[in-house]
Amino acid sequence: MTLVQSAVEKALADHAILNEFFGPVPTAARRTPMRELISTLLSHRTTHADEELAYDRMLEAFGDWEGVLAAPLDDLIHAIRTTRWPATQAPRIQEILGRIKAETGGSFSLDFLADWPTERSMAWLTDMPGIGLKTASLVLLFNFRKPVLPVDAHVHRVAQRVGFLGPKVSVEKAHAVLLALLSPKLDPEGLFNFHKHNYWHGQQICFFQRPNCPRCPLKGFCDYYREHYGEATSEVLAATPTHWDAAAWGKLPH
Ligand code: SF4
Repeated sequence: MTLVQSAVEKALADHAILNEFFGPVPTAARRTPMRELISTLLSHRTTHADEELAYDRMLEAFGDWEGVLAAPLDDLIHAIRTTRWPATQAPRIQEILGRIKAETGGSFSLDFLADWPTERSMAWLTDMPGIGLKTASLVLLFNFRKPVLPVDAHVHRVAQRVGFLGPKVSVEKAHAVLLALLSPKLDPEGLFNFHKHNYWHGQQICFFQRPNCPRCPLKGFCDYYREHYGEATSEVLAATPTHWDAAAWGKLPH
């Protein structure tokens, strides 16, 4: 087996192996830019089902974004009550909508970001209340194919355990660190797949508690594995699954 040692080598090996394991993901946007932005804001510490419920109730109650912007604050808080912090998120949503309306001269669309340079788009989005690097990166990568990398808790945990991200690097700082490792080699499609695969890997195999290392195809160069189980032998590697078995282990999430 080829020795994989440097952070860049490990990050690229992780990408290549998980791409094989989960299969390449088509890079179609999963939802409109406005929905990606507002839904991701609503999703903080909230289940996917409750996030969707809040989003649907909000638009049902007020009709459209103009209606949400003009809604009495208490009514908007009530509409998104299934989210974790409705009283915090409701005024944020209205401020975000106000800024988008002002930027676009009245339309509620983020399509203008397609023509903006990546750095300007990122700065504009992260200047809005409640919009951090992860949310802004999701919108810019998923919807506009800009060369950025969203890092959530799953991607962060896998990168630290395998050993291509330092143990003290925060999730926020990891955005720039991992992008610097990967962007010389990966285009937006590659970054999208890296994000998606490591998100799945953290959610389905490299659990926060008790990672399922026997099922993991990264064990051959994972620091955590070596510390807990020793060097992976050729017999162990040969017995490791090479592909996600949806029939046995279930369908992957969205
Ligand atoms: S070997 Fe274990 S700790 Fe390392 S990435 Fe795989 S599941 Fe996570």
